[in-house]
Amino acid sequence: MSTPDNKDISNYKVINHEYDVVIVGAGGAGLRATLGMAAAGLSTACITKVFPTRSHTTAAQGGMSAALANMGEDSWQWHMYDTVKGSDWLGDQDAIEYMCREAVPAVIELEHYGVPFSRTAEGKIYQRPFGGMTTHFGEGVAERTCAAADRTGHAILHTLYQQSLKHKAEFFIEYFATDLIMEDGVCKGVMAWDLTTGELHCFRGHQVVLATGGYGRAFFSATSAHTCTGDGGGMVLRAGLPLQDMEFVQFHPTGVYGAGVLITEGVRGEGGYLTNSEDERFMERYAPNAKDLASRDVVSRSMTMEINAGRGVGPNKDHIFLNLQHLGPEVIDERLPGIAESARIFAGVDVTKDPIPVLPTVHYNMGGIPTNYHGEVVTLEGDDPDKVVPGLMAIGEAACVSVHGANRLGSNSLLDIIVFGRAAALRAKELVEKDKPHQPLAEGVLENILARFDKTRNASGSTSTASIRGEMQRTMQQYAAVFRTGETMEEGTKKMKQIFDSFADVGINDRGLKWNTDLLETLELENLLTQAMVTIEGALNRKESRGGHAREDFPDRNDDEWMKHTLAWVDEAGKVKFDYRPVHMYTLSDDIDVIPPKKRVY
Ligand SMILES: Cc1cc2nc3c(=O)[nH]c(=O)nc-3n(C[C@H](O)[C@H](O)[C@H](O)COP(=O)(O)OP(=O)(O)OC[C@H]3O[C@@H](n4cnc5c(N)ncnc54)[C@H](O)[C@@H]3O)c2cc1C
Repeated sequence: MSTPDNKDISNYKVINHEYDVVIVGAGGAGLRATLGMAAAGLSTACITKVFPTRSHTTAAQGGMSAALANMGEDSWQWHMYDTVKGSDWLGDQDAIEYMCREAVPAVIELEHYGVPFSRTAEGKIYQRPFGGMTTHFGEGVAERTCAAADRTGHAILHTLYQQSLKHKAEFFIEYFATDLIMEDGVCKGVMAWDLTTGELHCFRGHQVVLATGGYGRAFFSATSAHTCTGDGGGMVLRAGLPLQDMEFVQFHPTGVYGAGVLITEGVRGEGGYLTNSEDERFMERYAPNAKDLASRDVVSRSMTMEINAGRGVGPNKDHIFLNLQHLGPEVIDERLPGIAESARIFAGVDVTKDPIPVLPTVHYNMGGIPTNYHGEVVTLEGDDPDKVVPGLMAIGEAACVSVHGANRLGSNSLLDIIVFGRAAALRAKELVEKDKPHQPLAEGVLENILARFDKTRNASGSTSTASIRGEMQRTMQQYAAVFRTGETMEEGTKKMKQIFDSFADVGINDRGLKWNTDLLETLELENLLTQAMVTIEGALNRKESRGGHAREDFPDRNDDEWMKHTLAWVDEAGKVKFDYRPVHMYTLSDDIDVIPPKKRVY
């Protein structure tokens, strides 16, 4: 739907497109929104920097939670309790109620769309136990995580892409969104660069949906794809809007030692367990009830404490073993075939005979673009902590609804992306008037965006993108780690500021526009740098321990002072500013009461 009035702006030919809605990102979140909006009859464009089915969602192994009760008793209220507790009471309870209740129809809907879930003997969707998922409000172990073997994300993503094509959504593939088009605080569209032809495209939409995924690549060792550079968060910060709870980064207990590749929690769900150098199943000491299936922050910290106490395995005593030999080749073949392959390729291990060497690895960003449970982006304005930013939505790992609070439970992210992708589509259907014309943009709006693009394209400093990125990743890995203290983080924030400043001296070699990966990586680095800044400064700022944020100098949770969401802004000079939003301590219905804070033990 390109309009004829394409024009030259700042020496760039810009191709114009007008749609009812524009989605940036074709992972699970972006595709579920795209499908829903296209099915609602809205003209829908989906822009993605990688081919849709190569989005990071495709790597999700373990599954998607929903209280279907296919393998034992279950209820969405228990799921909600687990999620609130998992979040260490930083999650918004209205949003968590919405997600856990909608989980059940959301999975059934996926099944009807064609997702090939694994099956029980009776033909129902197979469900496995996962960390922190319980029955009877913390008493028993729930079998709640719906799985398609250990390739659940792959199965979901392919199905959603096919459904989106069926509903005639238009895809712009290998287009890189550079900036939001904002006018007077309203989002009017997005600018994108076609990596193949080198052309620039202005996409107008009455709602722009950011579904750009996480920013795991701000760290050195991460399970996420190299494309997870948090471009949506970068665009939001540049637009002068805040990000929320960025200090909360999840370390997954079982990344392959050295390679960082993920070994799903589903391995422990199927009966796998961790051991130290004394062959001890040490999780029994740290979490007597849940043991190896305690939540991820708890298991990652326990592993780190074992290593610090000298009980790590390997020549340097610097990692832990994950054992699944006892499960036998049949279970492994049927339920964990991908894991057997990853262990063989990345650790040289035959999992039927030997344990896998593992280490906590950056896995998920709890923080992101603040939204309400309709997917609308919110900000703090005056006394209003829930002020909607017109025209802008965010969903998936890019967003912070907040359903995961200070720590996400495994299998709740595939759920989050589907439920809130769908919610955003329902909201857009209410908000967007079909085929409503777009008003011309004010002078200068696109020029400013192109000026930044042009400046980076022509950057001729003496520092390479790769060296700045490497410095950032190592600094974040070292100073914003599983355990944090004020003293080292002071040092870490100073280092990060220097690295941020060094970007002024970045130099790239390729000045072309077609498949210029040098420029692409530099634009991604710009997005990573601002997010690294708000992450590490946010961690220094939050003087308590909660969920994934563990301070050695403030070891306890402090609800009186810190049961609130951090909002962080960063200016062009890299200066970070904080403010706060209250946690929503209310539910949407009378079907469940608010879950009051208590000490979190597993
Ligand atoms: C290895 C691994 C295993 C996991 N396993 C599970 C699991 O079993 N269960 C679970 O619940 N969660 C799991 N997670 C977490 C979960 O998979 C992710 O949080 C979730 O899939 C993110 O989905 P998303 O749609 O938000 O983003 P992504 O799938 O990351 O997609 C992002 C999309 O945005 C596009 N994009 C980004 N920037 C731009 C830009 N500038 N311009 C244009 N397009 C852009 C990309 O092309 C891509 O299409 C796992 C994560 C990892 C890394």
